[in-house]
Amino acid sequence: MPWGYSKQELFAKALTTSGCGSLLRRCPTWRGVLILNYHRIGDGSNSLLDRELWSASIEDFEYQVRRVSLDFDVIGPNDLTHAFNQRRGRYVMLTFDDGYIDNYEFAYPILKAFNTTCVFFLTTGFIDQRSVPWWDEIAWMVRTSRGSGLAASEWIPEPIAFDEPDRQRAVKLLLKRYKILNGSRTKAYVEYLADALGTGRAPTEIGDRLWMDWNQIREMQRDGMVFGGHTSTHPILANLSRAEQDVEIGTCQARLTEELGHPCRWFSFPVGGRGSFNNDTRELLAYHGFDWSFTYFGGYGQAAKLDPHAVPRTAVETHVTRDLFDAILTLPQCFTRG
Ligand SMILES: [Zn+2]
Repeated sequence: MPWGYSKQELFAKALTTSGCGSLLRRCPTWRGVLILNYHRIGDGSNSLLDRELWSASIEDFEYQVRRVSLDFDVIGPNDLTHAFNQRRGRYVMLTFDDGYIDNYEFAYPILKAFNTTCVFFLTTGFIDQRSVPWWDEIAWMVRTSRGSGLAASEWIPEPIAFDEPDRQRAVKLLLKRYKILNGSRTKAYVEYLADALGTGRAPTEIGDRLWMDWNQIREMQRDGMVFGGHTSTHPILANLSRAEQDVEIGTCQARLTEELGHPCRWFSFPVGGRGSFNNDTRELLAYHGFDWSFTYFGGYGQAAKLDPHAVPRTAVETHVTRDLFDAILTLPQCFTRG
């Protein structure tokens, strides 16, 4: 990451206000495929769930889709090989992870209005079970707890005092602990938090209204949207045994195939950082028919550096202002995480 985000935002603002932004927009300053990744659209500022999942407001998402569809070739995954083989050209691909209901309610109408395709990577077990994912459940527990913090324990090396009023720092710290646990211990960790925070587990009704359903997904598919896999229950694959990874990836592909009428060739790694997948993951993805896999890091893709099972993506997160979004499109080599 060449700059911290606040410096990035300042620089992006300076580019826009100095007039350099419009000048730079006309320059073919980069070549390749810039793949943007979103999670949720809307306003999560008062949510009891994980607020970092909201990538953009409805208005900002509309602005962003308008920008990319006016100034770039927006492609679907079937065009990736062609796009990577071009010596010229700047291509953008839009992607969403997880399968939240706001993808259908807010993002889909905007994408349709601009006649733009997009890839949605689905956690098939969430769609089937309507369950509350671990990150949202942990955030819910922290925000509804009557306590003021957590004491050190076998799970937490140091005490955590809740940062009021939003408790976001505490949520982040507890999610960070989850991510380093071996997959066999994550269930016990969530149970420990339910007990230590005095909240119990999150009510199942939260999960009932969190996800798209298969009918909505098929409707989107008929309108040109594309779907891919994101495991069955969203574990960090590298923290699982090979046999467990096989079940997560294989079940996901089987459910996609049953519900969509064909196997899916595209996959995105849950969490998606460098340590979130390993060689077993890559072999199993190929075995189950996933030809391309997408990360949550890496900036933009160039043919010379192309690895089909670690294709880079750029995260669009809540902090991405319109200035910063414009700057990412103009100079991804400076404004995306390498
Ligand atoms: Zn995810």
